[in-house]
This record gives sequence, structure tokens and C-alpha cells, in this order.
Amino acid sequence: AFDRTPLIAGNWKMNMDHVQGITLLQKLAWTLSDAKHDYSRVEVAVFPPFTDLRGVQTLVQGDELDIAYGGQDLSQFDSGAYTGDTSGQFLNKLGCRYVLVGHSERRTIHHESDEVLNAKVKAAFKHSVTPVLCVGEGLEIRQAGTHVEHTLTQLRANVAGLTAEQAAELVVAYEPVWAIGTGEVAGPEDAQEMCAALRAELATLFGDDVAAKIRLLYGGSVKANNVAAILKERDVDGVLVGGASLDPAEFANIVRFES
Ligand code: PEP
Repeated sequence: AFDRTPLIAGNWKMNMDHVQGITLLQKLAWTLSDAKHDYSRVEVAVFPPFTDLRGVQTLVQGDELDIAYGGQDLSQFDSGAYTGDTSGQFLNKLGCRYVLVGHSERRTIHHESDEVLNAKVKAAFKHSVTPVLCVGEGLEIRQAGTHVEHTLTQLRANVAGLTAEQAAELVVAYEPVWAIGTGEVAGPEDAQEMCAALRAELATLFGDDVAAKIRLLYGGSVKANNVAAILKERDVDGVLVGGASLDPAEFANIVRFES
């Protein structure tokens, strides 16, 4: 799977206030800096709550940490009367390399539609923050056997209107909703099945060369003891980790998935 630089991403969700967030990141950086290990062959990113981002920026810049960070959501708008929302330009100014778009918790709890998510993907590119677009099916759809079509429909709607140049930068995370926070992991072959289908669809939309550059992640109850098998799959280029990213030792072991 490693023609593309693997991306190991931690989604902290609504955990870790700005003081706890600094402690977690310091512990992670300290663990990763262990000279016996080389994590330079992978890219590491964390997605803390918005209130943590300024502190994370200060720590990453001050200690020159090789860890990217990003927001868990952004507004489709640039600025204005959108109380409670956060603009992509604010994330850019804080040094965010990435932003999550369309996490299943946003789709379900906040009813974010495919149309809104398409606007958010475009807003991220407009402000030079790379979207990590999350797609995936719930349990009923998986049981009905229509998970591939469902997920590709989300993908098509969410990336509509992107240029090939933008698409080449995109990151897509396949997160089967039934495997998120449940301890239920999709098998490596399930992750590969969907990532291959996503890449084939991206090739249809943007061409083979573009599709070959796009990193596809798997997310859903990833832990240190199952990550290696998932990342062996040809079309899986990284993982998006929720719960296990809150434990610095566990997350560091995910980053060093081969050891
Ligand atoms: C997630 O929310 O992106 C996720 C994959 O969560 P978990 O690892 O806890 O299943």
C-alpha cells in the first residue's frame, strides 16, 4: 500500500481540553522521539477540538514536532453571521494542514447533507487546508449488502466539481459506522474491498494518475494489535483512529505499526 506516504491520523473527538491536549501531544511526541524507531516514513496527524488548536500550534512549532494537525469540521462559508461555526481560513491561519469533513458523527448528529459536505470540501481547498473526507455505511446497509454503492454515492456527491489538481490532494477515509467506537473492526479484506472500489470510482471521475495519488484511509476501532494487517492491504494508505488516539502509548504503537 506504500507507493503513497501512509497517513496515521488521530481524531480526539470532543475529548481533551486545551491543557489535557498539550499533555497528550507532549507524551505522544516524547514516545515517538524514541531513537530506536523511525517514524519519518509515515505522516502523523491529530485532530483536536477547536479550543486546543492554538496550543497545539505553539507546541508543534516551538518543539519543531513532525506532527500535522487539523480541525474536526469547518464551515462551508468564509466568514459572517454563522454563530458557532469555524471558517477554513481560521484553520489555515492556525497552521492546520488537514480538516475532517463529513465524519459520521457530523452526518448523523448534525444532519450534514451530501450537498453541505460538498461545499465544505470545496471551502477547505479554497483555504488551502486538505480535506479528509469521511464516508461509509451504517449497519443496516452493510447487512443489506449495498455498502459499496452507498459509499460510492456519498463519495460522488461530496467530491462533485473538484478539479483534478484538487482531487489529487484529497484524503478519503472509509469508516463503516458500525465499526466506530464499537470494538467491531471491519476485516482487512472489507477495508480493501471498499478502498479498491473508492479508488476505481476516483479513477473514473478524475483519471488513473490522480486516483493513484489519493490516500485512502480505514477507520473503525483501529488498535495497535490490528493496524498492521489493515495497512498490508494494497489500497489502504493509512488509518483514522478515534478512541485509541487518546492513549499516547497505544497511538505511538499504531504509528510504528510494523514493529
Ligand atoms: C472515528 O471516530 O473516526 C473512529 C474511527 O473511532 P474509533 O477508532 O474509536 O472506532
